[in-house]
Amino acid sequence: MTPDRSPPSDLVQRLATRAAELGFDLFGITPAVTVEGYHRLVEWIDAGYAAEMDYFADRLPAYRDPGLVLAGVRSVIVLSYPYHTLPRFVRDGNANQRAEGKIARYAWGDVDYHDLIHPLLTDLKSLIRSACPDAEARGVVDTAPLMEREFANLAGLGWAGKNSLLLNKRRGSYFFLACLLTTLDLPPSAPHETAHCGTCTRCLDACPTDAFPAPGVVDSRRCISYLTIEHRGPIAAELRPGIGDWLFGCDICQEVCPWNRRTDSGPSREANERLQPRPGQNPIDLAELLTLNDDAFRARFRRTPLWRARRRGLLRNAAICLGNSGDRSALGLLVSLLADREPLIRGAAAWAASRLGCDTTLLRDRLAIETDPDVRAELESLLS
Ligand code: SF4
Ligand code: SF4
Repeated sequence: MTPDRSPPSDLVQRLATRAAELGFDLFGITPAVTVEGYHRLVEWIDAGYAAEMDYFADRLPAYRDPGLVLAGVRSVIVLSYPYHTLPRFVRDGNANQRAEGKIARYAWGDVDYHDLIHPLLTDLKSLIRSACPDAEARGVVDTAPLMEREFANLAGLGWAGKNSLLLNKRRGSYFFLACLLTTLDLPPSAPHETAHCGTCTRCLDACPTDAFPAPGVVDSRRCISYLTIEHRGPIAAELRPGIGDWLFGCDICQEVCPWNRRTDSGPSREANERLQPRPGQNPIDLAELLTLNDDAFRARFRRTPLWRARRRGLLRNAAICLGNSGDRSALGLLVSLLADREPLIRGAAAWAASRLGCDTTLLRDRLAIETDPDVRAELESLLS
């Protein structure tokens, strides 16, 4: 028997009301179609811009057909969840002028956004199931192959900006996108058919690593967000200076966007308490971070979004930020990290120590006993 796909007439209004109560601030519905942007995704992967994120290519059929994410899907409910918070725990004067690293705004709190948003989608799913027991639904927040930004555009939430993010005239771009797929035929919202970047190119001009080969297209291989969070190996030497003091992620192409500077997209709105900045979470004292062993690192970051980079990734980033800082007071610490058990950290520490002008004898001494090929190559390059 074919399940009844026609929901009660008030279901959409009930879903929208409940979504707002849960903290979602944009809501729209679109049919579950193959989105136009699928072809752009294929081109993006073919150009190599996905870097080492092989899962994009591996899951292409599902990006084309949302029916592979939820069998029989007919509608996609698209929601936004704001994370526009203000810095609250600025170090008191930072009297010693110690070098610090910046964290992308979405990660200032103590909760991983997947963990925060998924239960909220489950709540909305229950509402669907109680109204239509035959209906299926599945919540997705970066947890399945789905072209969320494209569906958000079709559902009327906004347009894809030249910085590649979804922009909304009232809410800017500091929000997470989440989707609820369902087998119900829900009345679609009007798509957002216009773009409002105009002649602006601020995001393209401001990117410190030239990660935009074209407007709206990000080459992950050059993007600081990818390099400092997802990339597992050494970061290419020519990109390290552009990383500046970004320790985890990068917000530059959002910070410069005029749509994020309007008062109604601003941080005065209530964002979830668990996304609010925690003491010591932004900025982070780099030298202090570099002293953390595995246990101390776990204790401090296990429940935060920064855990994703793991100790070796975050300390690699910290060493690069220190190398960029000009803070020679950290030189001794960097030299001690030449003996860290993680090759990734040894290599980054060598680069940073060299950039801060360390005695090359120390690098030569390390090369004499170094066994890791990547670290050896780094030391040889620095010494040449
Ligand atoms: S996140 Fe930073 S590095 Fe990546 S594209 Fe935006 S400005 Fe460039
Ligand atoms: S900075 Fe300008 S070009 Fe870039 S996304 Fe914002 S409005 Fe568009």
